[in-house]
Amino acid sequence: MLYLPAMSNKEIARKFNLLGKVMELHDENPFKIRSYTSAYASLRKVSSPLVEMTEEQLGEIKGVGKAIVGKIIELRDTGNMATLQRYVDITPAGILEMLQIRGFGPKKVKVMWNQLNITTPGELLLACQENRLVALKGFGMKTQKALQEQLEFYFASHGQSHYAYIIDEANELLGLLQDRFAQDLVEITGEIRRRMPVVSAIEILTTASEEEMEAFIMELTEDAPEVLSFKGFAVEITQVEEEYFGMEQFEKSASKEFLEAADIEYEPYEEEESIFLEWDMAYIDPEYRESAIAVDQAKSGTLPELITNDDMLGVVHNHSTYSDGLHTLREMSDYTRDNGFQYLVMSDHSKAAFYADGLKEDQVIAQWAEIDEINASYDDGFRVYKGIEADILNDGSMDYGDDFLSQFEVVVASVHSQLNMDMDKANRRLIKAIENPHTHILGHMTGRLLLSRAGYPVDHELIIDACAANGMIIELNANPQRLDMDWTWIPSALEKGVMISINPDAHVRESIHYMQYGVNVARKAGLTKNQCLNSKSASEFALWVDSLKG
Ligand SMILES: [Zn+2]
Ligand SMILES: [Zn+2]
Repeated sequence: MLYLPAMSNKEIARKFNLLGKVMELHDENPFKIRSYTSAYASLRKVSSPLVEMTEEQLGEIKGVGKAIVGKIIELRDTGNMATLQRYVDITPAGILEMLQIRGFGPKKVKVMWNQLNITTPGELLLACQENRLVALKGFGMKTQKALQEQLEFYFASHGQSHYAYIIDEANELLGLLQDRFAQDLVEITGEIRRRMPVVSAIEILTTASEEEMEAFIMELTEDAPEVLSFKGFAVEITQVEEEYFGMEQFEKSASKEFLEAADIEYEPYEEEESIFLEWDMAYIDPEYRESAIAVDQAKSGTLPELITNDDMLGVVHNHSTYSDGLHTLREMSDYTRDNGFQYLVMSDHSKAAFYADGLKEDQVIAQWAEIDEINASYDDGFRVYKGIEADILNDGSMDYGDDFLSQFEVVVASVHSQLNMDMDKANRRLIKAIENPHTHILGHMTGRLLLSRAGYPVDHELIIDACAANGMIIELNANPQRLDMDWTWIPSALEKGVMISINPDAHVRESIHYMQYGVNVARKAGLTKNQCLNSKSASEFALWVDSLKG
């Protein structure tokens, strides 16, 4: 006989809860749904093990009828419930995942699925960031914001998190630990220190006692999680002798390739800097400790001067209320200017993007007039550019005619629909758009969402070659979920002379600060300010825009 670990009452109850939810999702009989939901409510309260009860005993439980008894027995004997499995089979895995998110019931999930075609939690988070929920019936700004926070937490508490959603908590914990263990060394290490786009834990390196630190962190947490954690984020502590602190920090803050190339013996170093000094290398920032090339550069004194947030002078690829942004053109430009930037390239959605209120030609013309007014109102040279995020259609053509498209100052070309493509199709589609003489920047190259959606497959080398041949700039979309094109391809683009534009794709004015996450990963790739489009000063950028007309 097949050995099955006995199911707990909670596990059994949860199956009925899920059954109720998926049936609601698929518009089943509300009466049946209610019976499963109430079975869930009563089964979880039963104190003796359900698996040890007889049919008669099960039948006596309040709210448990014959059909449910049968399903409990099926679960007990086979570990499965055929009815539930039937619904699970016809429901995308990501939809099932969304049903597990607290405060997000089947009704809302269904609206997302049917009306926005969202099938994963990551797509849902992007939809919140891009204001897609506000327009839906039954959803408002408040729901969207609450859901966005819920989702950020959801990712954080499910093993891996986007860097952007963990960094504040990591720094907060670091501060608390440095206060409490003031006599000891306490630093962040590992993936966060390397500014990886996706992080699995807050890693702490310390000379303090691991037990004491664990106890302290546990006191900070109210509930008792299975793993050591802070505000829902897993925490890992490594205790090290003071004289090895620098050595351990060095080993934990680099890729395998880098460490092999550096080939440094494990010896006592209290400070990381001493390692570089002693091994005749210039100091390398942890995020750039990725490749063997970095080691060579450090030894030969040719390290690139990595781009910084201060080098970002303009903000490219932004949305306003003309399409799916939350803020008006004026609010977007004032905010960008107030934050010290020199120019803003607006790029609302083009007309094919109906789901995002893409702009018809007459709306574009109205926007241009408003941009002229806004520009005239500034006396410090701050400038708003007339751009567009033009949809790359299924066959690679653009959704405005050539004459119209050529009148924009900057054209970001992006794929937003029919993402299910094989590599050949995707390559052909992108290359046709790249070869279009009126496109300038290739937006989010693969459409991927980190931890959520792989994106369509592309031959990166081929696409980069096409960009090089056509003077196309590649976007590093800085939305922390996208970070697309992946930073590991940036060196190849740079080698071929293709510039990178670090774009926030802001749908809310504050999201222009997403650029910092792009800068983080661009630094991993060795990007310098000369190779970045929006590190150009106002006058250099104006020259570049002029050059596009010729
Ligand atoms: Zn886009
Ligand atoms: Zn966009």
